[in-house]
Amino acid sequence: MKSLLSLSKKTLATCGYFYRFACREMRSYPMIIFLSILLPTLLPFLTMILPKMIIEELTGAGDVQRLIILTAILVGGGFLLKNLILLVQELRKVQEDRIARRLELAMSRKAMTIKYECTETEAALSARQKAETGMSWYSGGIRGMSECLVKIGTGIFVGLGVILLVVRTSPVLLVISLISVLINAVCTSGINRAAQEVFEKTPAINKFYSYIYTRINGREFAKELRLYNAFSLIETKAVNNAKELNQMDNECARKQFGWGLLGSTVSTVGYGVSYAYLAIMVLRGRITIAEFVMCITAMEVFTNDCLIAVITNLQQLVMKSNFMSAFVEYMGLEDAEEIAFADKQKGADLNPETTSVRENGVHETPAYDAFDGIEFDHVSFKYPGTDEYILKDINLKIGRGESISLVGKNGSGKTTLVKLLCRLYDVSEGSIRLCGRDISEYSYEAYVKLLSVVFQDFKLFGYSLEENVRLGNTSKTDPTDEAFELSGISDWVESLPEKGNTLLYKEYDEKGVEPSGGQAQKLAIARAVYRDSPVVILDEPTASLDPVAEYEIYRHFNDLIRNKTALYISHRLSSCKFCDRIVVLDDHTIKENGSHEELIRLDGIYAEMFASQAKWYQE
Ligand code: ADP
Repeated sequence: MKSLLSLSKKTLATCGYFYRFACREMRSYPMIIFLSILLPTLLPFLTMILPKMIIEELTGAGDVQRLIILTAILVGGGFLLKNLILLVQELRKVQEDRIARRLELAMSRKAMTIKYECTETEAALSARQKAETGMSWYSGGIRGMSECLVKIGTGIFVGLGVILLVVRTSPVLLVISLISVLINAVCTSGINRAAQEVFEKTPAINKFYSYIYTRINGREFAKELRLYNAFSLIETKAVNNAKELNQMDNECARKQFGWGLLGSTVSTVGYGVSYAYLAIMVLRGRITIAEFVMCITAMEVFTNDCLIAVITNLQQLVMKSNFMSAFVEYMGLEDAEEIAFADKQKGADLNPETTSVRENGVHETPAYDAFDGIEFDHVSFKYPGTDEYILKDINLKIGRGESISLVGKNGSGKTTLVKLLCRLYDVSEGSIRLCGRDISEYSYEAYVKLLSVVFQDFKLFGYSLEENVRLGNTSKTDPTDEAFELSGISDWVESLPEKGNTLLYKEYDEKGVEPSGGQAQKLAIARAVYRDSPVVILDEPTASLDPVAEYEIYRHFNDLIRNKTALYISHRLSSCKFCDRIVVLDDHTIKENGSHEELIRLDGIYAEMFASQAKWYQE
């Protein structure tokens, strides 16, 4: 009953969300839903009214021709209706499968566009897990929801029809059905509550479950698992996880069985009382045999197709929409924090393609002329949810066309500084400015077009080499040959069976190639070269390269960055010589800033690091 009453704003809002989504994606969906309600409504009336008429004919006039017509309507009409219902059901299934795939696509897109920090925070990860689970077998997704709506709609119309039909003959029957069904509703509510309790507890357990059963046994961990013989550790964790899930399932099954037993007992008693009541009515001559048969059928229809169908489906709808609201919340929550790729709301829109800075629709100074570098102004940063400053009071101006090498010990914050520049996180204090404006004032889509970045943990996709290099650059039609050439992989690409169209990895095709660590890194560099943005950021670009390849990259460094503004992170300090300036990060802030010669003369952190590396080469 409680869940019936909780058919609240939230349920209506969730149903509204999915219904609007479905109608947007499929224009004919409302018509299919209408037919799905109308056709099953007609069927029970055929089986209630016609048998009564046939019995009346048999026990009365006995007109054979009339009997044949009545039987033909009963059989033929039933056949036609059932097949029409089947056809509409199939059409609805096809449409709902399409809608479900589009919902998946919408969630996948949302996951790709949410603010970067949401990809790692516990709350956001749980929200996603809950949204995914909420749309799965728990609710049956869009089909599960519409199934309930259709049954509720059909039940209401059937109920109204039966009331009109039976109320004159035996209204008591309706009261008996109602009492029995209301008690059953309480039982179903208990059954649903038990399922809801499981759903509330599962995100954390499921996250752990999918980590063990899908991620850990995949390619990502394949080497460590084998080399460090980690199977028994993983299996112990899996067994413990399964125990927790089994316990929860048992508890849920116990509660659901208890409620189910009570419900079926009440129904059985209800049927018994109804039959007895009708039999007494016939014996007393208050109703005919034909009316007895019709009332029995009507009572079954009223109980099953109307009351039980409406109440259980309302409860199901409340429960399913509760599960599915996790999806709506995920999509909605993210909207507030999302980096909207189509974000045209911001005041300034830096568009490197039209090379202009636009404000309130007015074109100002051309962007490339206006681009005077990037400035960190008293920037401090803590990762969300932590108290420790990773960067403190950073002041750094990277001039236009300047190449800067960022050095410092592991964990000194070099990559973090790059992430801030890429707007993967917002600064905690201070600001990063471009053309006099805080970078957050530019549309994100336009801003990131200014950057060509290779991260140390870069990722390649299981698509072709060409696609890996072009990625989002779909409008650019230039060949990728030059990028392959400059990053030193043109020979490798040429040697492949389908050249640039060869697939990477074997996810989709047996013929896919496995690049070596160095080839993969050069491919990531080729992607940055092809993008041809005014600012190039290379985070440990040569970490996986052999000494010859590394030397080649440095030799072509100027070609690679083509006198662009460049920020370069490397532990091999010999590479810093290629840069105009070296910035040393230590103890959360910038400790040294100058050319190689200046810093060597300064004899500080850089000079010490350089000397300790050079020692190994000299020796
Ligand atoms: P570097 O690139 O200089 O090796 P990083 O910028 O990667 O250093 O890391 C600087 C510090 O920030 C490290 O102490 C690291 O543990 C911490 N850190 C990095 N990423 C995160 C994160 N997502 N959440 C919390 N702390 C982080």
